[in-house]
Amino acid sequence: MKLPAFEYACPTSLSEAVALLASHDGEAKPLAGGQSLVPMMAFRVASPSLLVDLRKLAELRQIKISEDGVTLGATVRWREILDDQRLRTAQPLLVAAIEHVAQYQIRNRGTCGGSIAHADPAAEMPGVVVTCDAKIAVTGKAGARVIDAANFFEGPLMTALQPDEIITEIRLPAWPAKRRFGFQEFARRRGDFALAAALLFYDDDGGKVRNAHVGAVGVGDTPLRLPAVEQVLNGSVIDETTINKAEAAACASVDPNDDIHASGAYRKALIGVMVERALRAAAA
Ligand SMILES: Cc1cc2nc3c(=O)[nH]c(=O)nc-3n(C[C@H](O)[C@H](O)[C@H](O)COP(=O)(O)OP(=O)(O)OC[C@H]3O[C@@H](n4cnc5c(N)ncnc54)[C@H](O)[C@@H]3O)c2cc1C
Repeated sequence: MKLPAFEYACPTSLSEAVALLASHDGEAKPLAGGQSLVPMMAFRVASPSLLVDLRKLAELRQIKISEDGVTLGATVRWREILDDQRLRTAQPLLVAAIEHVAQYQIRNRGTCGGSIAHADPAAEMPGVVVTCDAKIAVTGKAGARVIDAANFFEGPLMTALQPDEIITEIRLPAWPAKRRFGFQEFARRRGDFALAAALLFYDDDGGKVRNAHVGAVGVGDTPLRLPAVEQVLNGSVIDETTINKAEAAACASVDPNDDIHASGAYRKALIGVMVERALRAAAA
């Protein structure tokens, strides 16, 4: 279908981009990779009066790695994450998750900021930011602010962003070299959105788990943290008993709806299996 009519602007500075968004009474939208927004416009789910293209804002394209962690500019593309060899040690959970995003054509255009702004509950990147306690830096007409990932997602395709706010950076905390992690996703075909996926990491404390972080996507209205599973893991050795308890706690933590892709009961069972497999991978 043809897109509805819209105006287009391609600003060269962040302040200009914010001013353009603020001038359209909430009817303007940033355009990043266009891989979610353009199909939504084609289906008339979104009809912004102005698209503010972010592609000339060079400061949003950078990947920075320091002792504080990894900072991804909002318009860093999936392909750039997968191509940056430094991220395989600086943020291996991110890389493992992004390997499951879509097909290569979409990975060449889609951006990490666009994904979290879009807030699909089955998308991988929102799961990464929630699991890793990331901070989301945004700038709007009222200035800059930082939103904890835990407070960013408010529902399917709904976030804490104001209409004039642009995500500038995603800040992921430092990743110790010996941290253990697992990412497991089940989708009908490689590259489809997850029916369910589990993301987890922990630090090894003399054979016992410390600092467990467990997240899930595809099983709720937003990406989820699973504190009941973290509680099972912290202080435990990863053995069959712990794995079984973690699997049961994961299933009990979620209450997904039925939809055209799967029943809620199926997704509930599936997230337990994903947590089990992710734990086995992490321990191995
Ligand atoms: C066939 C297909 C398969 C896909 N499969 C997957 C998948 O398996 N997993 C997955 O995670 N995704 C998948 N996607 C989505 C893809 O990853 C998108 O690229 C991503 O969701 C949105 O990123 P984008 O840069 O294309 O954003 P856009 O489409 O340009 O924008 C999406 C939304 O975010 C807003 N936005 C964009 N950037 C910013 C910013 N910096 N600040 C504030 N708001 C902003 C836009 O205004 C819009 O509302 C798929 C897409 C397609 C077409």
